[in-house]
Amino acid sequence: MNGIISIRGAVTADNSISAISNAAVKLVDRIYFKNNLTDGNVINIVVSVTDDLTAFSAARAIRESGHNVPLMSCEEPNTDGALKGCIRVMVTAVSDLAAHHVYLNGARVLRKDLTSSYSIALDGPSGAGKSTVAKDVASRLKITYLDTGALYRALGLTCLKNGTDPSDAAAAEKCLADAVVAIGYTDGVQRVTVNGADVTAEIRTPEVSMAASAVSAVPYVRKKLLGIQRDIASENSVILDGRDIGTVVLPNAEFKFYLTASAEIRAKRRFDELLSKGQNVTYDSVFNDVITRDRNDSTRSVAPLKRAYDAVEINSDDMTAKQVADLIIHTVCGDVQ
Ligand code: C5P
Repeated sequence: MNGIISIRGAVTADNSISAISNAAVKLVDRIYFKNNLTDGNVINIVVSVTDDLTAFSAARAIRESGHNVPLMSCEEPNTDGALKGCIRVMVTAVSDLAAHHVYLNGARVLRKDLTSSYSIALDGPSGAGKSTVAKDVASRLKITYLDTGALYRALGLTCLKNGTDPSDAAAAEKCLADAVVAIGYTDGVQRVTVNGADVTAEIRTPEVSMAASAVSAVPYVRKKLLGIQRDIASENSVILDGRDIGTVVLPNAEFKFYLTASAEIRAKRRFDELLSKGQNVTYDSVFNDVITRDRNDSTRSVAPLKRAYDAVEINSDDMTAKQVADLIIHTVCGDVQ
């Protein structure tokens, strides 16, 4: 028996060609994904936009992304107090499933009842400030934070302890075959264990950073850590920080951000952080490590560091961590908490 369902969705966007296109295409992609749809079972899509989104046609973006279904575009009435910069869609489809409505970005305020659980992907190069920002966002939104770099660090450390070269894929795979990595939380603080031993403190040294960067290019390692990350994300509202969260781990995350900063600023921040922890490092060595990790992370063949097409890019050169967190919270909730 085939019924007909009508799925509602909305997303907010800035008035630019790329913002409108990305938001509209992402909204329709999410609706298709959540409702198990293909163009074959969609009857039509009606798109409406508020009158401040003039830079591009949302319906045209959906058409140009490859959807071959009847599309109609209209203008949202301009009522007092209505959400600005909003793209709404109604997708009518043949399906026996209950409709899953999708409200993204600032449009989540329209239907808080439908959007209780969500994922935030925060990717970017080393030292961009991801973990500081992610901790702040998680604590203010009362969601779970997963620092995925800790997982790679734990396996890098395991190689070092075993005298195994973490960049030798075959040797690393052999060394790590029996390593059970697990994440736990004590009073909201993430702990990472390898075979039951807590290595949370040990993984924060420059040597382990380099070992993590090397071991993270090993396909076996990426595969081994994928399930842990997805399991945590499937159980809670989460913010995950890493390199491939928006592209590989959670390609359907509701919110994606790509945080960057110049190599000099990132090295300076990391240098100050290591000094404050009493570690004996020079700025030049930290800068060289940042450059080497950037190169390793973005040139490896499996899950390289790159911005997901639908991630919002934030350059934090002239922003404090609090300002970046405010921006993320504003995008997620339409408000700063
Ligand atoms: O973020 P953090 O500096 O702790 O990560 C350590 C290393 O782990 C990174 O340099 C990167 O090579 C790797 N990593 C990764 N994918 C992630 C998180 C970290 O490849 N999702």
